Amino acid sequence: MSEIDERTIAGLKIQIDRSLCVGFGDCVTEAPEGFQLDADDIAVFGEHLESVGCERLLRACEVCPVDALTVWDGDGKQLVP
Ligand code: SF4
Repeated sequence: MSEIDERTIAGLKIQIDRSLCVGFGDCVTEAPEGFQLDADDIAVFGEHLESVGCERLLRACEVCPVDALTVWDGDGKQLVP
């Protein structure tokens, strides 16, 4: 899998930089439908990312201690980190 994984959900573009992830799982705790840890304990998108509301999605990305999760809005403005 590529080091950068990206999804667009509800007008937000969300990117996981897997090279930065240290696998503490804070994002998984906040939004388990949206984020999972793979067999190497590195974050991947969950199967139900679209069911996480925008607010919790942003919170799940904000809690990342190493800024591995980046979020942009529809205008390309970076919201997180
Ligand atoms: S919060 Fe950040 S470092 Fe922790 S698992 Fe999620 S992406 Fe990785």
